Amino acid sequence: MKRPLSLQKLIDALRKLPGVGPRSARRMAEAVLAMDYEEAREIGRAIVRAKKAIRPCSVCGIDTEQDPCEICSDETRDRSFVCVVESAEDVIAFESSGSHEGVYHVLGGTINYTRGSGPEKLNLASLFSRAGAGGIKEVLIATNPTLEGESTAAYIVKRLKNTGIKLTRPARGLPRGADIDFLDSETISIAHKERQEAFFLNDEQ
Ligand SMILES: [Zn+2]
Repeated sequence: MKRPLSLQKLIDALRKLPGVGPRSARRMAEAVLAMDYEEAREIGRAIVRAKKAIRPCSVCGIDTEQDPCEICSDETRDRSFVCVVESAEDVIAFESSGSHEGVYHVLGGTINYTRGSGPEKLNLASLFSRAGAGGIKEVLIATNPTLEGESTAAYIVKRLKNTGIKLTRPARGLPRGADIDFLDSETISIAHKERQEAFFLNDEQ
């Protein structure tokens, strides 16, 4: 006997989420069926609501319900200091550490040629046009301390090194391979405060 069509469709839909294999999709679908109607409807509504309301900020690329986002429209933030991160979750990590008074730029991933993610797949063109528009004194390239994060940082340094903008990286000492959004606020604050000029990357180019 086959599964009812609507159940199979639910399982197929759940499998599109990252990290969800066939078995967990089946378990999730069973959990949904065991819920009250209202509870299950709330999950469906939350997905649609978020999808309708959230879009990337036209300035920095962060997920936002208002454009420009809260941070980009905050007059008290230092617009001459841009912290470049891989994901919106990294912005939340920096914000909860309270270490960054400037603004952000969210790349939406890292350069990874083997996975077909070249620079054109990232939110890089708008970073370079922001940099070219003037007014930026420092760009802190806070990609994760992973191989991909480092090579993405090297690419950005290469593109921005002749602009006169000071280019920095978070202090060495972040655990290798770590994800910034999983680090505690104190580690992030120290890495931010003790940031270093990104000269070391120029030699690699
Ligand atoms: Zn923004």
